[in-house]
Amino acid sequence: MPGLRPTLKLAWRIGVNNYETDAAFDRLMAVLGAHRAIVDEVCLFETVTHHLYIPPEPLAERVAIIGRRLAALHEAGVPSAGVNVLTTLGHMNEAWDYMPPLPMAPMVGHDGSVSRGCACPNTPELREYIRDKYALVAELRPDFIWVDDDIRMHNHGVTYGCFCETCLRLFAEWSGFEHTRESLAAALNEPGGGALREAWVEQNVRTLESLMAHVAEAIHSVDPAIETGLMTAGPGWTTYSGQALDRWFAALEAVKSRPGGGFYNDDCPKQMILKAFEVGRQRHGLPDAVTDRQYELENFPYHTLRKSSRSVTNECTLALASGMNGIAFNALGGGEGALDDYLPLLARIGEHRQLWEALVSHAADLPTAGLWAAWHPRLMARRTVRRGEDWFAAGGSYNTTVACVLAEIGLPMATDAPGEAVVLSGRVAEGFSDEELREFLAGGVLMDTAALDVLTERGLANLTGVRIGRRIDNGVMERYTNDPLNGPHAGELRDCRIEFWGDARGQADVLEPLTDGVRFLANLETYFNEQYGPCLSAYENDLGGRVVVMGYAPWMFIHSGAKRTQLLNCADWITRDRLPVRIRETVPLVPFVRLSEDRTRGLVVLLNAGFDLLQEAAVEVRAHGRPTVRELSPAGAQEARLLPATSGWRTKVRGLGPWETRLLVWS
Ligand SMILES: [Zn+2]
Repeated sequence: MPGLRPTLKLAWRIGVNNYETDAAFDRLMAVLGAHRAIVDEVCLFETVTHHLYIPPEPLAERVAIIGRRLAALHEAGVPSAGVNVLTTLGHMNEAWDYMPPLPMAPMVGHDGSVSRGCACPNTPELREYIRDKYALVAELRPDFIWVDDDIRMHNHGVTYGCFCETCLRLFAEWSGFEHTRESLAAALNEPGGGALREAWVEQNVRTLESLMAHVAEAIHSVDPAIETGLMTAGPGWTTYSGQALDRWFAALEAVKSRPGGGFYNDDCPKQMILKAFEVGRQRHGLPDAVTDRQYELENFPYHTLRKSSRSVTNECTLALASGMNGIAFNALGGGEGALDDYLPLLARIGEHRQLWEALVSHAADLPTAGLWAAWHPRLMARRTVRRGEDWFAAGGSYNTTVACVLAEIGLPMATDAPGEAVVLSGRVAEGFSDEELREFLAGGVLMDTAALDVLTERGLANLTGVRIGRRIDNGVMERYTNDPLNGPHAGELRDCRIEFWGDARGQADVLEPLTDGVRFLANLETYFNEQYGPCLSAYENDLGGRVVVMGYAPWMFIHSGAKRTQLLNCADWITRDRLPVRIRETVPLVPFVRLSEDRTRGLVVLLNAGFDLLQEAAVEVRAHGRPTVRELSPAGAQEARLLPATSGWRTKVRGLGPWETRLLVWS
């Protein structure tokens, strides 16, 4: 990863209640002072609420206090201290009973709803207000200024913005599309509205780009030495705003990033895996100038029993494995008297510092390796809208995160495109040109039948070798054939009870061969063993690409030994044995891999994503040479014993506790 700093940074985001009064600040400084080994950077929020507007006078008073606190932090030896500007547009509707109403035009939703807490980004009144605000903060000469993640055109108290008169006029001026709010919202839902949808998402990108340039100007006209940073949300939420991280970071002249995306508590611990992929996806889109990449550790609103310190340290380890080189902890809440709650967490973070240092310094220039679950920043702009569909409805076939379930059976997933092979799920392929899809299909591809639908519409089905013969939506299971890719599991059944989980369309599709040479790995049958036909194909096409199409419940209940063996064999087959890691046993080990191009240097992070002690598992690494491999944990390092493997080496990981991680590093 070009330019990535090989040193770890642990940063702390501090709310107003922890610094505004002298008593609160003294208490904060005592805690930070007692934990200096994990405090590399501190930033102070300028406001308590997510409501945009604070009148100039109280804002100036607050900023004056921040100035004194930054000086005290520097004096205490904190190497880097700055300001986290929480609101640029406003995040949502909050505290509207008493926060002052916006003195500038609010954001307007596609449905005519009007935000109470967030402004239209394009009015001169808003631009003037935030110029003054950022300039005021810049006058403090902080080391850096963060722009928080309200830099988006969705979820501002209105679901999708901004459809106000100013924005409609601006849109008409540059794009030529003249609309009222009502006619625009309707036209965006028209099947023939493709060019309009692309233009409207481009309007969102431009709006935020010019806003970021405006903020950069406000800050750097005061002091060009102040570092700027932008906090972002992941594409898994929506690509309505255009996800143009390259343009937004360049406009802000930013060197700091903080990719984010949920995971607030222990309710669904496996969500930490998904979040690691989401931040890895945002990291992949960053310009090289952005060398400070801090993971969003999000414990808001800071109730300690909601998330264990083990989850916190695990998710940080996965984020660093996904390409971050720092952590922005949003974890200290409360106010006076409440910081004692966080002492166990701070201690545990301290125990991990050395491990994380090793991870970051070893991985700095290594890309992620594995299968790449395809997504595109302009997916929402480019997707088709069929009659009766709602462009504004999120998720469904356009959910770009479903394929991440493959990590749970031990398939390494890359966030650097295109990885060793591409995974196409749902209708995500609509985000790509024919040429790009053809390129994917010339390599390895794993896909579901919704993706096959898209490729068929594009005239590319011949490269998959199959078409959909019949769609079944009830009473069906799959049985494995005696194809060698099924290993010892020929004849075994997989039953996913597809009607139980909602709409079962696309969950059981019979495939028909379009040509000779298509192999079938499974057949659909009824609960009384009557045959429907094949549902899982493997085909090597004329471009030399290897394509596997999964017609039965592709993204759920893949966690059996037989299915896992089959899918791992398929992944080995489509990548021509370049899958970087293979775990032999049926265990819930989730691998994150970083690997040099020549495969002589690398690291593997293994997460035991289960509640059983993992006694022993054999991990095969497809790397070159016979390196010295160190096995790292917070407890220390030891040399791993290596055994030869078909293409690389293997080692045994022993005694990995529930929800613990282990690192293998070699060079
Ligand atoms: Zn507007």
